Amino acid sequence: MTAQTKADVPAATLEALMDAAQAVLAADSLEETFGRITRRLSALVPLDDLVIYEVEAGGARLQPVFAEGAWVEEVMAESFSIDEGITGAAVRAGRVENVPRSDLDPRCSIVAGTDDQPEALVCVPLVVDGRTIAALNVYRNGADVAFNEQEASVIERFAAMAALAFHSARQREQLRAQARSDPLTGLLNHRALHERLEEELERSRRSGLPLAAVALDLDHFKAVNDTHGHGEGDRTLIEVAKRLRSTVRAVDAVARLGGEEFVVLAPGVEGELALRAAERARRAIGEIEIDGLRLSASAGVAVFPVDAADCPTLLDRADAALYRAKRSGRDRTCVAEAPREPGAKPPADPIGALPR
Ligand code: GH3
Ligand code: MG
Ligand code: MG
Repeated sequence: MTAQTKADVPAATLEALMDAAQAVLAADSLEETFGRITRRLSALVPLDDLVIYEVEAGGARLQPVFAEGAWVEEVMAESFSIDEGITGAAVRAGRVENVPRSDLDPRCSIVAGTDDQPEALVCVPLVVDGRTIAALNVYRNGADVAFNEQEASVIERFAAMAALAFHSARQREQLRAQARSDPLTGLLNHRALHERLEEELERSRRSGLPLAAVALDLDHFKAVNDTHGHGEGDRTLIEVAKRLRSTVRAVDAVARLGGEEFVVLAPGVEGELALRAAERARRAIGEIEIDGLRLSASAGVAVFPVDAADCPTLLDRADAALYRAKRSGRDRTCVAEAPREPGAKPPADPIGALPR
């Protein structure tokens, strides 16, 4: 039986599968891996289109993640409910669907913008650890072009490779995201902030637009821990993160540097607008009440390129301004002091503090 099964798999199929497996192992990008799997599969099984749909978190929708053929843009633009179409049925049942003519199948739903000519379709759910994570769809255009059993079984073997590729790529992505995020709040961590700052600075250098860094530190936070316990302190930090995130613009970045120190990066912002961004962040934090007492924070603002030309200096200067805000009474924002000409008189307001 085993010998017969081996003999049943033609050498070309085995070779193509080996290549697909290598692509999975080498996988630098999912796009590249799926592309290689598609090329190898289409050399064995003539096909017109190939689409991979991912089952979204929550399991309610199917999101296209890869497409090859004549309708790439249209297919990639449209996600659909798991209750819809032949793909939905295959994913729900965890069963391969080999449909000779999709236009005659009552479950068939057409992706908007594509034609509704007759086509044959094989849809294979991609299953990992008993869970369907995606579906591989292979289409051939025409009314009399059904995939035979042998072709369907070759598609299934490639689908197994695609499932592995998908699973390991998503795991790698997850690990990368974990390495960049603060486990308590989900904000960018220290390392990710530095990476992001380097990227933003590079963008600013090219565009000539400014970049504001706002350093924030909660006031007397130790007292929150001491009075209400570390657990309540942690919950407060999570709430602070949530409010900061919902206060900033989509292009801004929010990081937790550890402890109860946060940084907001605001591209394109300087001067009065940078100050306002800091005050908005502080107001968001000030809305949090613990046992009837309002939380407060101090902030320091520094702007590229007026206050600093590189990443460490920008953060240092924002931090120095924050330190002045603390020294001058907390619950306020200070901006980085303008660099003084040698021998110039100190500024009239050495604190540079702004009341709330
Ligand atoms: P201020 O900044 O106004 O000078 O006073 P502070 O009491 O906030 O002082 P500091 O910023 O130095 O405080 C850090 C405190 O934050 C120490 C610790 O009690 C608390 N803290 C730091 N990290 C965490 C954390 O992960 N969870 C909790 N619950 N508390 C933390
Ligand atoms: Mg503090
Ligand atoms: Mg602190």
